[in-house]
Amino acid sequence: MTPAQERKIRQTGCDVRFDNLTRQLYATDASIYQIEPSGVAFPKDAQQASAIIRAAADAGVSVTPRGAGTSLVGNAIGEGLIVEFSRYNRQITDLDIEKRSARVGAGVVLDQLNDFLKPHGFCFGPDVATSSRATLGGMIANNSSGARCPVYGTTADHVLSLQTVMADGRIEKIGPVHESLATERARIENLVRARSAEMAERWPPGLIKRWPGYGIERFLRAPNDLTNIFAGSEGTLAAIFSAELKILPLPSEKGLGLIFFPSVDEAMQATVQLLDLKPAAIEHIDRPLLDQTKGQLHFRAARDLLELDTQPCESILIVEFYDDVAEQLSILQSRRIGLRTKTLTEPAQMNLVWSVRKSGLSLLTGCIGAAKIDHGTAWAGGQLLWSRRQRTFARPAGARSTQRNRSKKVSASRRSNLRAGASI
Ligand SMILES: Cc1cc2nc3c(=O)[nH]c(=O)nc-3n(C[C@H](O)[C@H](O)[C@H](O)COP(=O)(O)OP(=O)(O)OC[C@H]3O[C@@H](n4cnc5c(N)ncnc54)[C@H](O)[C@@H]3O)c2cc1C
Repeated sequence: MTPAQERKIRQTGCDVRFDNLTRQLYATDASIYQIEPSGVAFPKDAQQASAIIRAAADAGVSVTPRGAGTSLVGNAIGEGLIVEFSRYNRQITDLDIEKRSARVGAGVVLDQLNDFLKPHGFCFGPDVATSSRATLGGMIANNSSGARCPVYGTTADHVLSLQTVMADGRIEKIGPVHESLATERARIENLVRARSAEMAERWPPGLIKRWPGYGIERFLRAPNDLTNIFAGSEGTLAAIFSAELKILPLPSEKGLGLIFFPSVDEAMQATVQLLDLKPAAIEHIDRPLLDQTKGQLHFRAARDLLELDTQPCESILIVEFYDDVAEQLSILQSRRIGLRTKTLTEPAQMNLVWSVRKSGLSLLTGCIGAAKIDHGTAWAGGQLLWSRRQRTFARPAGARSTQRNRSKKVSASRRSNLRAGASI
């Protein structure tokens, strides 16, 4: 970034950093990629977010909105200005039990929202495994979902309206009752309608988790509602400053069936046999993750409960039920699937089991080794073979190893999320 560009951005009055330490801290996310940004901004309100994004656009600097940076595909990093929404925008307001809604700042963390809602008997449906860090802004932009996707769908299904900052700094309210962005809405509708036959052919009905990407098939069903396009847009269309979300009653009861298997293959086959029981979730944990818990005091109680040392296994399915729990658990046991089964209904015990699954990130990235294996990515002979996004990479001669996850990161030049001056 040139001194003139830097000056323009500083003049907004927003908390913005250009020092080396901050740029290094924001050069990585949970993916294998590493891109050093030119600076990082921390807006405190929608006006500051608007001013900083407008200034970046005027200065020709690209913008990447960011929440907690737990994304796996490098979409929370970029070479221009990172606009970080998780430091200041953590307010939960406008709880309306009758309407079943609440408003959150983009930086509200999912666990924070659920802790707030629990005493009222409510929760937010989609449950990413990174709930202790993931922000609602990041969840909307990624259209995140979790283990209970069959019950709750994805985050897009739970957004009532959004307050967004466009690439030119306009602050807009988006949602079915808002008339904003009429020109853009008409353009999108024309584009989407022209492709509707192709979409129907390629995306069969009933596909609950098409994740992420612009929700053009959702938009087709509800053309007035631009939130469907913004959810899943990975920060490429606008920055989300706050959101009005649907909230749901907590389930009245819960139960877990644990099935232990001698191989991952058998566990995968068994999931098909379990679907008729209508579980709220079926999650899988395999031995590499279980092995990482060995000798760790924090996981001793969970290992004892799962009897991992006395009755080892290769793989476990966690099957959760919300309705007719006792009956469903007894049917599950009677099917005699796998090596053995165990059923749990005590909240403390169920939480112990989920804590192993939820610690997946820190357990796996804590593995000592030359490279981190990431979703859909394989290294062979020091070359990146394939990545989920099929980007073009050259492995840099001096790929650095970060202290944080002891993994080799590759730097890559990539598109900016919010292109300066871009609009939908
Ligand atoms: C171990 C592990 C498990 C995971 N499990 C799941 C899972 O179960 N389900 C799932 O869906 N994902 C999962 N993820 C991926 C990731 O954690 C989620 O998608 C999460 O919701 C991202 O939230 P974040 O705040 O970290 O977003 P970030 O990573 O910071 O950003 C995500 C995207 O959103 C954009 N963005 C962020 N904030 C804003 C904003 N305010 N306005 C506009 N755009 C914004 C960014 O530019 C980026 O494109 C997992 C990741 C890890 C490492």
